[in-house]
Amino acid sequence: MKLRAFAKINLGLDVIRRREDGYHEVRMIMQTIQMYDQLEMEKKNTPGIDLTTNLSYIPVNENNLVYKAAKLLMDQYHIREGVSIDLNKFIPVAAGMAGGSSDAAATLVGMNKLFHLGLSKEELMKIGVKIGADVPYCIMRGTALSEGIGEKLTPLSPMPSCYILIGKPGISVSTKFVYTNLKLNEHTKHPDIDGMLQALKQQDLRGITDRMENVLESVTVPAYPVIEEIKNYMKEHGALNALMSGSGPTVFGIFDDKKKAEFACEKLKESGLTRQTFLTTAFNNGGTPDDK
Ligand code: ATP
Repeated sequence: MKLRAFAKINLGLDVIRRREDGYHEVRMIMQTIQMYDQLEMEKKNTPGIDLTTNLSYIPVNENNLVYKAAKLLMDQYHIREGVSIDLNKFIPVAAGMAGGSSDAAATLVGMNKLFHLGLSKEELMKIGVKIGADVPYCIMRGTALSEGIGEKLTPLSPMPSCYILIGKPGISVSTKFVYTNLKLNEHTKHPDIDGMLQALKQQDLRGITDRMENVLESVTVPAYPVIEEIKNYMKEHGALNALMSGSGPTVFGIFDDKKKAEFACEKLKESGLTRQTFLTTAFNNGGTPDDK
């Protein structure tokens, strides 16, 4: 069984408050993009999970979210056979693009089919949140408002047609570092998420891009100035706007013109500001991770 696990960007990311249990209450506008990891899953007669991947620095044990997702279903549904999973990663790792969460989402969908568990999408989403707050969204996909710790999802009108330039600098940013250092007070400037919801409803691309904001940049931009440099570079090269995705360090720029986007992509590659640079589009047709 072959599955695709898509990456996401955050068109808007707000953190409302830190809860007593340490989790953060968020309000985010999520968008799936045409960039994906590939998973190949196969039943095997011997019990256990065999995981292989194309990246040597990624764990292939319980620390991989794919392994975690497969094990969760195997334990819960007393699956005695085993499974081999080959994970081919293309989504930048530790980048704010939910690569690991999306792999876990695809694994849940794949295991459900492979072992005929008969679970609905909603049931898989409920199981998914035990692995990570973004996993339910990665099962749902498309354009969505994500609230609570990320598990309260509302589907939205799709992102209007545009080009999305992705640039990841050669630095790693720990999500934990970002949330630990986030200072929320009365001076915090919060993104206009409601305005963006309205702009999406009206299919107003400029209305959306004008409101792109990520509260987590208040931590990452002072710590890693290259993020701001990439944003400025994209804007100087024709992006309607540019923003850091998730907890970073990946930056995305939105373009309404293909030629401009292609030119900006080539220039960004030459600039040396990014280590990984891709030009892509939004992925809007929802569905589950195994629909081609
Ligand atoms: P998010 O946007 O949800 O914060 P991210 O893009 O920051 O995700 P991931 O790429 O999902 O981060 O992975 C972060 C860390 O998790 C990596 O350092 C890696 O060691 C570990 N990890 C576990 N499973 C996976 C996986 N399937 N793919 C990539 N990394 C994984």
